[in-house]
Amino acid sequence: MSDEPAPVPSAPANSPAGKLAAEIRRRRTFAIIAHPDAGKTTLTEKLLLFGGAIQLAGQVKAKKDGRNTRSDWMAIEKSRGISVVTSVMTFEYADSVFNLLDTPGHEDFADQTYRTLTAVDSAIMVIDAAKGIESRTRKLFEVCRLRDIPIITLINKMDREAREPLELLDEIEQVLALDTAPMVWPVGMGRNFRGTYDLQKDRFRRVDENPEGETVSGPDDPIFDSLLDPVDLAKWREEIELVRDACGNFDLKAFREGTLTPVYFGSALRNFGVRDILDALIAYAPPPLSRPAAARTIEATEPAMTGVIFKIQANMDPNHRDRMAFMRLCSGKLTRGMKVKHVRSDKTMALTAPQFFFAQDRSLAEEAFAGDVVGIPNRGTLRIGDALTEGENVQFLGIPSFAPEILRRIRLEDAIRAKKLKDALTEMAEEGVVHMFTPVDGTPPIVGVIGALQLDVLGDRLIHEYGLPIAFETAPCTVARWIEAPDRAKLTAFIEANRPAIATDADGDYVYLAPSEFSLNWVAERNPELAFKDVKSVM
Ligand code: GDP
Repeated sequence: MSDEPAPVPSAPANSPAGKLAAEIRRRRTFAIIAHPDAGKTTLTEKLLLFGGAIQLAGQVKAKKDGRNTRSDWMAIEKSRGISVVTSVMTFEYADSVFNLLDTPGHEDFADQTYRTLTAVDSAIMVIDAAKGIESRTRKLFEVCRLRDIPIITLINKMDREAREPLELLDEIEQVLALDTAPMVWPVGMGRNFRGTYDLQKDRFRRVDENPEGETVSGPDDPIFDSLLDPVDLAKWREEIELVRDACGNFDLKAFREGTLTPVYFGSALRNFGVRDILDALIAYAPPPLSRPAAARTIEATEPAMTGVIFKIQANMDPNHRDRMAFMRLCSGKLTRGMKVKHVRSDKTMALTAPQFFFAQDRSLAEEAFAGDVVGIPNRGTLRIGDALTEGENVQFLGIPSFAPEILRRIRLEDAIRAKKLKDALTEMAEEGVVHMFTPVDGTPPIVGVIGALQLDVLGDRLIHEYGLPIAFETAPCTVARWIEAPDRAKLTAFIEANRPAIATDADGDYVYLAPSEFSLNWVAERNPELAFKDVKSVM
């Protein structure tokens, strides 16, 4: 996506183009990135609560108390207490429409997280105030940086013993090389966390009281005298002067370019700072951005609908064998029942049952606009990276596939069911949860995943969804690379000469399966006219 927000056309407000632009302008599509335990689930729950999407705080959290909800519909998730699968939650607040895309918390699902982050326009980074930047925060941030996604920071758990706020800002700047602009400053911490001081507006907001806050004359206002002990108070007042001098003002352009983050302090558990995040999304986060496609850039406000599939989820409802394809609308307006072109197959399909997802429910999406994410039930027609349009042959760029780090051969307990296994693996490869490599010499397929936990999920699903008990065996290879060759004849010659080490992936692209990195390098050096790629763009 480009750095700039969609231009607002000068169409009259009540013309169709004007109405479309207004709908798109009030949308925010974002994700939350955090190290496990920093408070992502709690913040999600509170955001939905503020947005009126759920009635009762605690409902999103079923993963911890065993109730069954959308964000953890799989048995494996429940048994491990982790959120494996990305999903989307749509809610409204203050006349804005939010699409919150959930990302898997565990790094074994990094590929799925990456794809989800290609579908957002901004992200909230949640940091545990006692821990600062943790490993997973850093990795997720790096993914955001690849696309210069603007980041809003919440330093969470201020109601617990926390590190010094200045030290935390410094850590963000040093570790992430990201400028910070504190928007509020905490008054106390831990048991003495009193609230936050709004550095822009000179207002004080108390924890658990008066959501609007009260105007104060400045940090020297006597209101603070009784809140902190004299030593802490003097230090606090100095700090405010310091951050005002040192951090400068929030710069919208730098934020939109992904080089500066506004920082809020709060406690998601105590509902504090949550509204700041929503207000910041409305005020600063970009509305749906334009997206690069093969032939041209698609502007969000173009009237013709285009969308890209970034995620497929199987068996969301165990009673139905359908799959849900999640589409981010990139431009225009979707109307239920409309006929669209499925660009990859060049076929027309009718969007009869596009769906919005809320905290617990789904509902038919009668209409949706650029920036929205809708689920499209289908039986395997749609794959990750596919474009749906009103007729144009659009190919969106930038949804990659990563070479797996773990390769295994699957042993079926019942060899007669090899065909069924292959079908199951093909389906799951299209969902993007596993790579399936079919050796050209006819030996059984090899599966590849990014992390060990994905193997568990795979085994679990093969038994529970497909009734196929299997075991994983060591594969004769440990490295898989896509082979690219500008010269088709060279590729064919290489394949013929190396048949035992060649396979095709689910799209029919050739992959070289090497026993080790060392042998891969050896082969690559001897075949300089070929490229051995560890990332493949889906299209
Ligand atoms: P996730 O793993 O990032 O989704 O984290 P959770 O939202 O599940 O939170 C992890 C733990 O921290 C839970 O026990 C939460 O109740 C707790 N927690 C989350 N936010 C806060 C907060 O602001 N203050 C305090 N004291 N605890 C919090």
